[in-house]
Amino acid sequence: MEPIGGSGAAMTSHEVTNNTPATSRYVRQMRYAPIGTAGQQSLGSRSAVVVGLGALGAVIASHLVRAGIGRIRLIDRDIVEYSNLHRQMLYTEEDAEHLVPKAEAAAIHLRAANSEPIIEPVVTELSAFNAERLLADADIIMDGTDNFSARYLINEVSVKHGIPWVYGGAVGGSGMCTSIIPGTTACFRCLFPAPPAAGAVDTCETAGVISPIVDIIGSLQAAEALKLLTGNAGAVNTGLTQVDVWHSQWLNIKTTQSRRSDCPVCAKRSFETLENTDSHTAAASLCGRHTVQITPPQPLQSPLSQIASRLSHIGQIESTRYLMRISLADRECTFILFPDGRALIQGTDDPVAAQRIYNDLIGT
Ligand SMILES: [Zn+2]
Repeated sequence: MEPIGGSGAAMTSHEVTNNTPATSRYVRQMRYAPIGTAGQQSLGSRSAVVVGLGALGAVIASHLVRAGIGRIRLIDRDIVEYSNLHRQMLYTEEDAEHLVPKAEAAAIHLRAANSEPIIEPVVTELSAFNAERLLADADIIMDGTDNFSARYLINEVSVKHGIPWVYGGAVGGSGMCTSIIPGTTACFRCLFPAPPAAGAVDTCETAGVISPIVDIIGSLQAAEALKLLTGNAGAVNTGLTQVDVWHSQWLNIKTTQSRRSDCPVCAKRSFETLENTDSHTAAASLCGRHTVQITPPQPLQSPLSQIASRLSHIGQIESTRYLMRISLADRECTFILFPDGRALIQGTDDPVAAQRIYNDLIGT
C-alpha cells in the first residue's frame, strides 16, 4: 500500500523476529496456535483500510493496530463531537473540544497504543471519485460506515479488484456483520440488492444505539480480519451473523446459497456506483445529524487561512490545522470547511439552504 498523497516511497512493514520488542508485545497472540509466529509475520506484512471511524471503525482499528497489522489507512469525513463519546471508544473530550477530525484523532490515539504499524489518516468522504485510489491497494477493507452508498462503493471495489471486505452495522441494541470474499461468498449486492427505502429502517437517530453492541459487532469484524490476514481464511465465518445484545439473541445465517446469477456486481461485473462520477456539487443531509455535507467537484483554490481572513467579518472563526469553523448566528448554523473544499453545515437538514450558504461563503 502506497501512502496517499505522500512521496510514493514504498514502506515495508516491521518484521517479527526473536528478542525484539515486537515479540514480547505479541507473545500472547502468537501463542494462540492458529496465529503463531507465521501468522504474526503475515499480519505484520499486510494492510487494511477502515472506512468510517465512528463506533465500529474505532473498535476495528484498535484491534488491528494493537494486534500488529503492518499498515492501516483510516478514512473518515467527520470531526469528533461530544455525542460520539458514549460509544466511540477511541476519542476524548479534548478531541471534541478541539474539533479534531476522527481520522486524525484515531491516528494519534492508535500511535500511542502501538507505534509500529504505519497509520495513515485520510480526512475525506469516500466517493466514486476516490474509492479505487483509497481502497484498491489494501489487503482487506473494513466497513465502519453507516450508509448503503458507501457500502455499495466498497463492494464494487472489492469485487472489481478481488479484495475481501467485512461488513458491519449496528443500531439500538442489535447489529449484524458478514465477510464478503470475492469469488467465494455472495457479494453485498447479492445480499442487499437495493438500499432500504428512506424511513423504512431504524437508524441511530430514531432508535438510538448502546455501546456494547458496537463493540461486539466491531470485534466480530476484527476477528474475521485477523483470520484473513494471518493465513487462516478457512476459519472465516461466511454466514451473516445477527446479534441482539439486549434480548440475548445470537443468529448465524448461512448465505452459501445467496450468490445471485443475475447480480449486477459479482455476476455481471457492472460497477455502476463506482462509475457514477457526475462532476456536480453534492449536497447530502447526514442522517440524524441535523447537518448537511457539501462536496464540491473541485478542491479549494485558496488556502484555508486566506479564506478565514476573507470571512472574518461574517462571524466568529476558529481555525485549526485541520479545518476552519464559522458560527453564523444570523443563520442559526455553523459552517465547517476542510482543506479539500468539503463543508459540513450544522444546524440544518435542508440541502438547498446549505448549498446557498456554501455558495454565499465560498462561491459556486
Ligand atoms: Zn453479487
